[in-house]
Amino acid sequence: MPARKINMGMVGGGPGSFIGRIHVNSALLDGQINFVCGAFSSDPAKSKITGKEYYLDPSRAYGSYQEMIEKEKELPEGERMDFLCIATPNHVHYGPARLALENGFHVVSDKPLTYSTEEAKDLVRLVEKTGLVFAVTHAYTGYPMVKEAREMIRAGKLGKIRKVVSEYPQGWLSTLLEATGQTQAAWRGDPARSGKANSMGDIGTHALNLAEYVTGLKVTEVCADISTLVEGRKLDDDGNILVHFDNGARGIIYASQISAGEENGLKIRVYGEKGGLEWIQVEPNTLIVKWLDRPIELIRPGNPWCSELAKYNTRFPAGHPEGLIEAFGNIYRNVATCIQCRLEGKEPPAEALDFPTVYDGLRGMQFIDSVLASATGGQKWIRFQE
Ligand code: NAD
Repeated sequence: MPARKINMGMVGGGPGSFIGRIHVNSALLDGQINFVCGAFSSDPAKSKITGKEYYLDPSRAYGSYQEMIEKEKELPEGERMDFLCIATPNHVHYGPARLALENGFHVVSDKPLTYSTEEAKDLVRLVEKTGLVFAVTHAYTGYPMVKEAREMIRAGKLGKIRKVVSEYPQGWLSTLLEATGQTQAAWRGDPARSGKANSMGDIGTHALNLAEYVTGLKVTEVCADISTLVEGRKLDDDGNILVHFDNGARGIIYASQISAGEENGLKIRVYGEKGGLEWIQVEPNTLIVKWLDRPIELIRPGNPWCSELAKYNTRFPAGHPEGLIEAFGNIYRNVATCIQCRLEGKEPPAEALDFPTVYDGLRGMQFIDSVLASATGGQKWIRFQE
């Protein structure tokens, strides 16, 4: 039994926001984490409102993340925040992450890791210097059937991987939604808050992370066509990328926000010498496996034939659906276990180390650079920019 629960603070997630609530609900799922404080908005009054909604101690709903880190640091160990969750727009990832690491707090940050690759490299340097835990919520790799896909490939069941198609189509930006002031569209469409890219950073990085996690391969070269298809938009809303992997496999990664009618249609297909597999987020509890020499199989979580990794990441008996909260929760459970092990002076079990890290975050930023360089430069194929 671990010594104590781990204390979480959050930056972002204020009134009307999207992902903050998902972080909180996921973090609380397994009873290992207390939610103790937050700086929920750049407006201190709004931060107080959100603190109230979560029934936090009013003195711990702070006016800024700087104040939160300064005040939490003064509290005794066990009472103060142990890790900071970052759920702000992209331009407010680096500042809180850096300050947290410099003051001894572990970090769970949303993606894309930072606003620029230089910032991402600096965070890698700080994580290596401090040895603190740093997770990035590419949470789609937390689904049990994504774990199952990874384990099948790792065990060689599909043979050598030859082709990978990882796609993230959405339709919600099919019109110039940012011009209406819609909060989530407004900052994503603004280069000052989003970064160099919108669709490539917001969802392209997820498609890359999914492809590399499931296959265990790394993208080495890209040939990209990046577009802005809605008039008046300042950043990309569609991108189609041919990719080469380090084992010679070929692939396609695409991300689109103008694929009208699509929801969060994240999907991956992988083909090896002996068979293929297919997983789509809208049906997250089914992994389709396609064989060269026998009929298609459907694999679902909670069954005895699933891999140990999928079982470790499954909470319910077969047939009770698991979803996005549980996938995020698998990251939080592993982060909490790693921090608890540190408190107890123990090495974490191998399965608890299975979460996206600052290095995955950096690859996301390098992916953005690579595809933009390919799309705008004169060369057809370019090396992945490490
Ligand atoms: P949002 O606009 O809904 O929420 C952002 C929140 O941050 C708001 O409450 C805003 O007031 C707050 N904020 C802004 N500046 C702040 C500051 N200086 N201090 C404190 N709070 C501040 O945005 P969202 O859609 O929830 O996205 C937030 C982040 O999460 C983005 O980086 C996005 O890319 C990422 N995201 C990740 C996933 C995923 O699947 N992992 C899904 C959606 C969004």
